[in-house]
Amino acid sequence: MCDKEDKQQLFSAMVNELNKAEKIALCGHVMPDGDCLGTMLALGLALRQMGKKVVFFSPDPVPDLYTFLPGAGEVRVELDQLWRFDLFVSVDCSVPDRLGHFQELLDRAGRVVVLDHHAGSVAFGNVYINLPDNAAVGEIVNDFLPLLPVVIDEAIATCLYVAIVTDTGSFCYDNTSSETHLRIAELIKRGVPAARINKLLYEEKPLVSLQVLSAVLQTLYISDCGRVAWMFIKRDTLHSLNASDEHVDGVINYPRMIKGVELSLFFRELEDGIYKVSLRSKYYLDVNILAAHFGGGGHPRAAGCLIKGDLEDIKNQMFQAALTALKDE
Ligand code: AMP
Ligand code: MN
Ligand code: MN
Repeated sequence: MCDKEDKQQLFSAMVNELNKAEKIALCGHVMPDGDCLGTMLALGLALRQMGKKVVFFSPDPVPDLYTFLPGAGEVRVELDQLWRFDLFVSVDCSVPDRLGHFQELLDRAGRVVVLDHHAGSVAFGNVYINLPDNAAVGEIVNDFLPLLPVVIDEAIATCLYVAIVTDTGSFCYDNTSSETHLRIAELIKRGVPAARINKLLYEEKPLVSLQVLSAVLQTLYISDCGRVAWMFIKRDTLHSLNASDEHVDGVINYPRMIKGVELSLFFRELEDGIYKVSLRSKYYLDVNILAAHFGGGGHPRAAGCLIKGDLEDIKNQMFQAALTALKDE
């Protein structure tokens, strides 16, 4: 996307912005994940070492899963109308929409820096850094932190580790490179308790998460050709289990585990007639392009979109588009 020299120039433009600003707002995307939260906290903790005033924002609350991250308790979901910032940093958002209600800070902050790694994103802000070759925004921040007068301590390293381990599917996805492993090795040297962090992320699920998985698996459907699998969950089911959105995270990965399945689709009812669709592919299908047909986006192997309408219609539309895309491959 951009060569080494461009990247160095972008990094120095951003470092310049960070040096100049005194009061800095950092914000990730709606339905926050490990990458946007871990990266935002890592960068904020580093900026505090430089004496900056830092406020963390998230358009949706921090899921319980990520409350162990250093600084997670300070993340705000409400905006105080009186606050003004010298600089606003958007983390892991492909379009301003993904900032939810904090989009208004784009106009209220003196300057805007965007850190992203989604292919086909829309450029915005004064300094726009989008490096889709990076598995996580955490990798980008990891790479420019040495340009700042900060010590990458255990807390910062842990936040970056979580950003990278979650966006690479524990280093299993195609986006994992040799550089990813080198970065991780350095972070572990900085004191990240990797085994403990992985237990917190993957082996401390509340019971209700498994109950949600059980309910969702009842809806599993596999196409006649065996290459597409899908599942869904309705609000009623979540209510009856006393579950919330975060208990649904990760279920999308199950249909993709089935032998022969290339594309996994998961339809999550957000409110009446609005569905969030998650798309995951295994070897070759570009789901970023498929999601873009429906106004969404993401990465080649993981993407998402929002669709309004009746579940049967949405499933049929998506399924037809998927079959066409699979035939084109
Ligand atoms: P998810 O299925 O929510 O885990 O999302 C998978 C990937 O697609 C993530 O990288 C998101 O950034 C991206 N994504 C999800 N929903 C949308 C959307 N409505 N618009 C653009 N990108 C999305
Ligand atoms: Mn993300
Ligand atoms: Mn990301």
